[in-house]
Amino acid sequence: MTRPNRPDLPDVPWIVDADVRAGYGVDASFGAQAPTDFEVVRARDEADVVEVLRYAAATGTPIVPQGGRTGLVGGATATPGAIVLSTLGLNDIVDVDPVQGLAVAGPGVIVEEFKKACAAEELFYPPDPASAASCTLGGNVATNAGGLCCVKYGVTADYIAGLRVVLPGGAVMTTGRRTAKNSVGPDLTGLLVGSEGTIGVIMQVVTKVIPAPDPALTALGTFPTLTAAAEAIVALRRDPHPPCLLEFLDEASIAAIQSLADYGFPQGCAAALLVQADRPGHVTQDLARYAAMLTQAGADEVAVADDAQEADALLAGRRALHVALEAQGPQLIEDMCVPIRALPQLVTRGREITAAHGIEVTMSGHGGDGNLHPSLGVDPRDPDQVERGWRAFGEMVDLALELGGTLSGEHGVGRLKAPFLRRQFDNAQLQRLRAIKAVFDPAGLMNPGASYSAP
Ligand SMILES: Cc1cc2nc3c(=O)[nH]c(=O)nc-3n(C[C@H](O)[C@H](O)[C@H](O)COP(=O)(O)OP(=O)(O)OC[C@H]3O[C@@H](n4cnc5c(N)ncnc54)[C@H](O)[C@@H]3O)c2cc1C
Repeated sequence: MTRPNRPDLPDVPWIVDADVRAGYGVDASFGAQAPTDFEVVRARDEADVVEVLRYAAATGTPIVPQGGRTGLVGGATATPGAIVLSTLGLNDIVDVDPVQGLAVAGPGVIVEEFKKACAAEELFYPPDPASAASCTLGGNVATNAGGLCCVKYGVTADYIAGLRVVLPGGAVMTTGRRTAKNSVGPDLTGLLVGSEGTIGVIMQVVTKVIPAPDPALTALGTFPTLTAAAEAIVALRRDPHPPCLLEFLDEASIAAIQSLADYGFPQGCAAALLVQADRPGHVTQDLARYAAMLTQAGADEVAVADDAQEADALLAGRRALHVALEAQGPQLIEDMCVPIRALPQLVTRGREITAAHGIEVTMSGHGGDGNLHPSLGVDPRDPDQVERGWRAFGEMVDLALELGGTLSGEHGVGRLKAPFLRRQFDNAQLQRLRAIKAVFDPAGLMNPGASYSAP
């Protein structure tokens, strides 16, 4: 048995090695720091999770559920005195059923592995965060993760049919459906999706799966102005068969990518759009139409992939973006989503805000969704820069809200963005959310301080 030297603790797999434990202390969020006093359990099965939540209820111990620790908002970072409950080991893919159109898997399944298992049955599980190689299904459900193909297929919430959850105190609850339809409601599944570990621990996920599309092909358009790129996005969104990927990169993002390696972007363009088509039987035809739209909107250059290899090569630069930005120094990453037509204002006014605070910024992301990740270059060791960075961050949140948007399109709120939540939620909404949480978690032990649960 591995457990800290305390006989009162339940007999579950505690991580006792201090170095290993420290690794579970933080997620991928800006400036994340683990406290010194937290424990980690790496659950093997539901019984372990039930034991830990019973113990937590009996002793008033906070619980931080954790998946792949790729979260960018501090939702999975340990808090003082908490038990970090890792569900990474709960990684069984139980079923992929082409007849039912459903798949069932544990919360610790890595998203890329899950997508591969579905593909083996010629099925498609669309959600595809750029972190798919290391994030988990449970983490994606808890954050309502998005990704690169939401523009056509939607977000994680659109694919969750049901859940199995362990609640504070150890009760187990099953929500949603394992059938093609279900009208016995209300359905609590939606409450759990995006709840960021504040209600219960997700133990099993039932997802919708759909017929596999054709392998996608890619086009890259580069633009002399931001306005031209924005016009192309609007035109593509109006197409009756919209692209399955529509990504935006601004000049600074392209420069960062090109400084990592030559990914083939021309120098000096104001913006680039990457577009993909995957409609069965119509990929080449759709892509040719998208390419014509890019040209008509004012693209200087349009490159169209003829095969999967070329398609991957065109997308490689976008995939390298996070690494390219990290290579330039620590990044404070925003995640605002605005109405599509407001994108140019988000970019230009966002740049003005950051410039006024002396902070460098790149603007990129899921342009087709109006969901950008302005990335602020902020050194967490420089208190003055950190203060200016957060001020710029807050003003950009205000800008997104003024434009009719939200402070998070897909990363969630966690602890990092909790101080800004009051700018989006009014008192009436916050009070009712907290009242709902109290029904499940009267002692407030689930992920305290994350999102709406923060004081
Ligand atoms: C390079 C990079 C690229 C990214 N790209 C994208 C992207 O394109 N789209 C996107 O949406 N996100 C993206 N992200 C953010 C991140 O990958 C997502 O938020 C992801 O959903 C987190 O999953 P995880 O398994 O790592 O969860 P964690 O980071 O471990 O946890 C995230 C949240 O989920 C909760 N949680 C985890 N497991 C459970 C569970 N079993 N039960 C209850 N609550 C749980 C945690 O408490 C926490 O609040 C990216 C991150 C990185 C580092």
